[in-house]
Amino acid sequence: MPKPPKPSVSTGRVVAAAVTLLLLGTVGATQAVRVGASFMRDLELVSPALSKSPPWTEDPKTPRLARRVFLVIIDGLRSDHSYQLPFLDELRRKGVDLEAQSHYPTWSRPNYVSILTGVPPRASGVRTNWHFTPVLLDSLMDRARAAGLKVATATDYGLLPSLFLRPVGNGGVAIDPKDLEVDIDVMVEAPASKTALRAPGANLRSPFHDARYVPWPGGFSEASAALVEGNAELVVLLIGAVDVAGHAHGADSEDYLEATQTADRALGRVLASVDLALDTIIVTADHGHTDAGGHGGTEPEVLTVPLILAGAGVKPASVFDARLIDVSPTVSALLGIPAPGHGMGRTLVEVVALDPEARQRRLSADRLRLLATRSVVAVSEARAEAELLENRALRLGLVLGGAALAIAMAVLLIRRRVLRLDLRVLMVAIPAFFVVYYALIATLGQRFSPSLLPQQGHLTMALVKYAIVGMVVQLLASLWVLRRQGDLASRLAAANGIAWTGLMLSMIPAGLLWAFFPAPYVLVPGATWLILIPAVTLTVACSAIDVALTLAIELIVFAARARYRHLVAAASDSAS
Ligand SMILES: [Zn+2]
Repeated sequence: MPKPPKPSVSTGRVVAAAVTLLLLGTVGATQAVRVGASFMRDLELVSPALSKSPPWTEDPKTPRLARRVFLVIIDGLRSDHSYQLPFLDELRRKGVDLEAQSHYPTWSRPNYVSILTGVPPRASGVRTNWHFTPVLLDSLMDRARAAGLKVATATDYGLLPSLFLRPVGNGGVAIDPKDLEVDIDVMVEAPASKTALRAPGANLRSPFHDARYVPWPGGFSEASAALVEGNAELVVLLIGAVDVAGHAHGADSEDYLEATQTADRALGRVLASVDLALDTIIVTADHGHTDAGGHGGTEPEVLTVPLILAGAGVKPASVFDARLIDVSPTVSALLGIPAPGHGMGRTLVEVVALDPEARQRRLSADRLRLLATRSVVAVSEARAEAELLENRALRLGLVLGGAALAIAMAVLLIRRRVLRLDLRVLMVAIPAFFVVYYALIATLGQRFSPSLLPQQGHLTMALVKYAIVGMVVQLLASLWVLRRQGDLASRLAAANGIAWTGLMLSMIPAGLLWAFFPAPYVLVPGATWLILIPAVTLTVACSAIDVALTLAIELIVFAARARYRHLVAAASDSAS
């Protein structure tokens, strides 16, 4: 007895299922792009817990040891590449040669803040170079000004003069964001354009009495020389050129070496007239660079930077645990002023020539300040963690519920034969994207870290590039395996299967990350997650686009063949 013919699949239903999957993909992609695009900004905190507590600024009243302090930041100079530079080596001979640890995430803006406020990125809320709002933490400049000292800066990188904007007339103590004559929410969203309207008349001042942004060749030397000639007691010099060479060619390149030599020569010329019997020079860096170029992660070559101190008030000693957050309290001790009051670092008393009694006063001031700042940070982190845990169950429930719903939908569609999970098809089509995408990211280095991306913290662009390659591979693989499917309806049903599986495989991990690492990030995700969170988010958008393209092509093939058959049938009709 012949088997009854299989009931034919309704064309309309297969197409309807494809359109539903397309819609689902579009929603997922839009959400993913939104989350991915704001990831770097979500890491930033405009007013961290510390900024809301008054700074601890009690004066330990220790003698002033240096008439002037020149604090030099060579952006991106890693420690082991800071030797055999004549000027720096000469400073080392005259003073002390230390290494300092930078703070994760090892990007520039976060660590200018570490150096100048003594607050690491974790607590300062400045975690990437996407921080556009004024830092509302007590700074070295605020302390110096409050003590009646003049502060100045020269840099070929425009950021420093504007990083710590203050309301005019504010001595720098406890700044309320409301006092800033700019809409902070607008600055977060569109830092330059929207605030520009009111910018010329804004009631703001730079933290420096004299701020020189000199981005042209020779500008740094000219401006720095003028500041050395001048009378500012605290002078912050920032050189950006070494970091630029690091990004372009890597720390293991001739160009980087040349950039360090050029910077060293310029500093030697500019600071030649500094009288080290009266004044002090400190040289450090915000972060290092990988051999291939890049920073942001926790690699030793990225974390370890030089810290050289020479001149008045400096005495030789070894310090093995210096950090960038220790720089500002140490400068404060040299100038005889209170340390920045939100700082979480210590005075490097080992290298400061204080008598035992004064040294003790500095140490107790440090202890009280650390007691205050550490508890504020600990409370805010504990609170954030508790909130996270509280919401995690709900978020996990939503993700798992959504997944269950999708599986139920798939079962229904499979029964109606409008969705087909053909194992061989899925095995070729689905891994294509993920394998290519993650393999490309992995080729950047042995592990996931923001340092492996050479560009300055622009994770998204690098990831998008890899995602596009992955998408093309998956699209070709999908079309190649679908080509072998029999009739049109089953071909589209198999395409629906690829679409459904791809969406599930990308959306569930993205959902889990959303449950475990939701924005805003009071707690900074680790270096691996800093890459994986945007990377996984992006896979949702890519899968959705792939799904859309695969299904669209299949729908076109489907329609074209149906039309062709119709024409053939019509032709044979008229022939008979
Ligand atoms: Zn850099």
